[in-house]
Amino acid sequence: MNASRFVRISACVLVALCAGAAAAQDLPDVIILATGGTIAGAQPKEGDPGYKSGSLSVDSLIAAAPGMDKIARITGEQIASIGSQDMNDAVWFKLARRANELLAAPWVDGIVITHGTDTLEETAYFLDLVIKSDKPVVLVGSMRPATSTSPDGPLNLYNGVAVAADPMAKGLGVLVVSNDDLFAAREIQKTNTTDVQTFVSPNRGQLGEAYYGKAWYFWKPTTVHTTASEFSLDGLETLPRVDIVYAHENADGMMVEAAVAAGAKGIVLAGVGDGNATAAMVDALAAAAAKGIVVVRSTRVGSGIVRRNIELNDDKLGFVAALELNPQKARVLLRLALTKTSDAKKIQGYFDRY
Ligand code: ASP
Repeated sequence: MNASRFVRISACVLVALCAGAAAAQDLPDVIILATGGTIAGAQPKEGDPGYKSGSLSVDSLIAAAPGMDKIARITGEQIASIGSQDMNDAVWFKLARRANELLAAPWVDGIVITHGTDTLEETAYFLDLVIKSDKPVVLVGSMRPATSTSPDGPLNLYNGVAVAADPMAKGLGVLVVSNDDLFAAREIQKTNTTDVQTFVSPNRGQLGEAYYGKAWYFWKPTTVHTTASEFSLDGLETLPRVDIVYAHENADGMMVEAAVAAGAKGIVLAGVGDGNATAAMVDALAAAAAKGIVVVRSTRVGSGIVRRNIELNDDKLGFVAALELNPQKARVLLRLALTKTSDAKKIQGYFDRY
């Protein structure tokens, strides 16, 4: 090779490298915190619907979603490797504390959390209440395991990273991306056992869409979340016990009494209809409330608002109305509210605002 050709080639290589380096430097930094779930699930036998959640590492999930390196500089961390049916306070505290630590670092632009879909709505709402940052935090899961013929996880992860890297997603609270739809943590609910299209927001509607890396935002949450939330895990190692009791035909007070005996500080009623229950169950709940246990009325119906004093006199019974929160979300808010007070009137105030 003659000298002038070598100089020309070297210059080209240098320009290309510099351009590549500059482009990489411009990319936002997104951290993926993995907790397990079907998105990391593997089938022991090819083609068999059976699988084990949380089998694959965060690095395998990243490798299975090519193109993400063009939208963000990605770092992966394994927080847990569980099916989200096993989600627990220890993982919640670890996840929330690590997310808050990373979000406080100036170089971090957003976080994606991979999670099983079973309890994703509970973790998303919990984080919405204890994350202290307006940077995007986006949960993603999948309905099909990573080894299935047509897994839905990789595109969910790709879209989740795109939203986490998007400055437009700032200040919207914790978000969830699933099957091209974008949801606010407080509003999302799982509605189908196995369909890929499982998540909906029954009361306020989906927040937007995330489609092949491009997001649309339809509305902004008006309830209190993240930086405006009064709740924090500082100084806490666990949260107060709250049980959910399920109302049905001919129910007696046994489940309520069992929750009281187990040491519940709060009880959420998954009521029939507008948060109702048999007289026997209501009597047991009223007895619990009289002992200082906070009773919140929600509904098993799946949508709608449980308001105060409709068929039951909440003022007289000392109950709290869950409004739009389904039983599992009402439980999350009640546990955090109980770290502040056990006054039912003050706790109603939290349900009115959060
Ligand atoms: N059982 C699984 C889990 O929640 C289901 C899923 O991820 O879709 O981990």
